[in-house]
Amino acid sequence: MLLLQEKSIALKKTRAWIEINLDHLEHNVQEIRRILPTSCQIMAVVKANAYGHGMIEISKKLEKLGVEDFAVATLQEGISLRKSGIKGNILILGSTHFTEISYVMKYDLIQTIVDYEYAKTISERDLDGEIKVYIKVNTGMNRLGESYQNLNKIKDIYHLEHIKVLGLFTHLCAADGMEKDDIAFTRKQIERFQKVIFHLKLSGYSVGKIHIQSSYGILNYPDLKCDYVRAGIIMYGVHSEKDMDTRFKLDLKPVLSVKARITSIKEIQAGETVGYGQRFIAEKSIYIASVSIGYADGYPRSLSETGAKVMVNGKYAEVIGRICMDQMMICIADIEGVKVGDIVTLIGEDSLISAEVVADWAGTITNELLSRLGARLDRVVIGNK
Ligand SMILES: *Cc1c(COP(=O)(O)O)cnc(C)c1O
Repeated sequence: MLLLQEKSIALKKTRAWIEINLDHLEHNVQEIRRILPTSCQIMAVVKANAYGHGMIEISKKLEKLGVEDFAVATLQEGISLRKSGIKGNILILGSTHFTEISYVMKYDLIQTIVDYEYAKTISERDLDGEIKVYIKVNTGMNRLGESYQNLNKIKDIYHLEHIKVLGLFTHLCAADGMEKDDIAFTRKQIERFQKVIFHLKLSGYSVGKIHIQSSYGILNYPDLKCDYVRAGIIMYGVHSEKDMDTRFKLDLKPVLSVKARITSIKEIQAGETVGYGQRFIAEKSIYIASVSIGYADGYPRSLSETGAKVMVNGKYAEVIGRICMDQMMICIADIEGVKVGDIVTLIGEDSLISAEVVADWAGTITNELLSRLGARLDRVVIGNK
């Protein structure tokens, strides 16, 4: 771990980086806990390298905050997390190929049962022990899960060899919607799931732990009585989209910023163009700057020609021309004193360059923007570890 001083020296050489604020992560966890029923725990969704934030650092901080449950998308993510020293429960949300199922046991992970046939296939493997699983129940998303209507198949999973059921969960597909239809459908999904639980209990099955909500389920249906919520995007301090209305409003603080540097400054004359395809034409003589970040770092090319802005020395500068693979250009006509080496903030706390706003310019949601931030970016962690 670098000391702050070493860090600032190292950073002078860094072309583009992600800054992670662990104090903000702590704040967001407290905010989420504030609206949950007391018996409900956070299962931290740290898939896709913790939405681009760095799975290991984020999970270690979460463990210090008392989080004991984690969710990842793939077996590989689960193994990395376990190897990094995380002691808590680790649930794999996706389907693990049946030939690799023994690794789930070896690394003490938990597998999601995506339907009855999958459970049967893994139970027929020659295994020396039991695989811990959660049964996913499909209540209307129609992605993964055994249908809520197939109660007998769900019950049969409990009796399969090599399978130890820890609980059940479902996933909502319209929990972010505030329209009547969305609310009615979400209520229906919740009811379908609760009926499955009710019938299992009635037939004497020990149901175990249950969970339903992800981020928008938490914000719009926080009072459901579950053992866990699966918190993803809001834990990282951002909403999926800007200006979304929710029933409960949390004071979220963005954990991540993206920064790069000014690498070259030039004056161009009226009529000159900037970048590939000559997509920007100067109307008058202006100063422009090259910035050391591009779409290969995860700053989307689709932000080109949208009026997207970045921040330099506390002022906004417009992105001009097409964003390149490793670089991009900005207009600094209205900003005084910009020098080579100055820091450019591309995604940050400022509300005009928040992840929500940048995602909107790029025609996507923050979940995609953040999770695609490039492996090539350096990482700086600030705040209490
Ligand atoms: C990714 C994922 C989550 C987290 O979703 P957010 O909207 O980011 O909170 C929760 N549950 C499942 C099954 C997921 O795939």
